[in-house]
Amino acid sequence: MPELPEVEVVVHQLRLHILGATVRKIWIGREDIIRQGLSTLGWYQGVTLTDIQRCGKCIVMTCLRGTQPRYLVAELGMTGLLVFHKQAIPDEKHTHMVLSLDGGRVPELRYWNARRFGRLYFLDQPGLDTFLRRRFGLDPFSASENQFVSLVKSCRGRMKALLLNQQKIAGIGNIYANEILYRARIHPHAQGARLSKARIHQLYGAMREVLKEAIRYGGSTIRDFRAPDGTPGRFQERHQVYQKAGLPCPRGCKTLLRRLVTERSSFYCPTCQGRS
Ligand SMILES: [Zn+2]
Repeated sequence: MPELPEVEVVVHQLRLHILGATVRKIWIGREDIIRQGLSTLGWYQGVTLTDIQRCGKCIVMTCLRGTQPRYLVAELGMTGLLVFHKQAIPDEKHTHMVLSLDGGRVPELRYWNARRFGRLYFLDQPGLDTFLRRRFGLDPFSASENQFVSLVKSCRGRMKALLLNQQKIAGIGNIYANEILYRARIHPHAQGARLSKARIHQLYGAMREVLKEAIRYGGSTIRDFRAPDGTPGRFQERHQVYQKAGLPCPRGCKTLLRRLVTERSSFYCPTCQGRS
């Protein structure tokens, strides 16, 4: 499932290839993939893509007509892809949108999704503001350490659940929550409010390091993830604990990694991540 690093990889390639391009035509395969703004679709023909950003796990494209902006927001959900050509998708039947482009480095952008958890939103400025405010809490890269400390200190539940809660901290899913907690040596069931400031400092650093490394390696391809040009991620080769229950802890502490079935699956080292 695409998380922050994979979406960041997508945004990076979109910026390189289609920023400044004009949308000549929008083809929609099935209308129910559009969660909001179906009736405004006509407005988007002829717009210029002037900005592309990641917000949480979403891709937000600014579409300008004259001086007026509206937005195209793509949510990738479990299996969604944004790709530049047919060769990058597993099949044709799950292509739900094709943007035909002029003036970019590629002639089209396709939205593909085998399962329909991902959605598209065509929003005006107030619509976008509401969308982002409701969905996303702090961003791991723009949150200051103080903001992060306050968030963790106010957490009454388990750390793993906090990291997965998009309304608290946006962009982290099950793969990276596991990897981050292992790197920070924090048990998935540790209570945020009970962690010392020093350990939260460790966690803040681990979160940003793991996410940055994952971006550098092109994200993780577990099932379908591909960058828009079709390249799979390579960070899965560097996972330390995700889906590795029963294997020895990579730190060499001579303990076997374990799996807990709370908050999706939690993978951890009972020695390195002792309860705190
Ligand atoms: Zn260990």
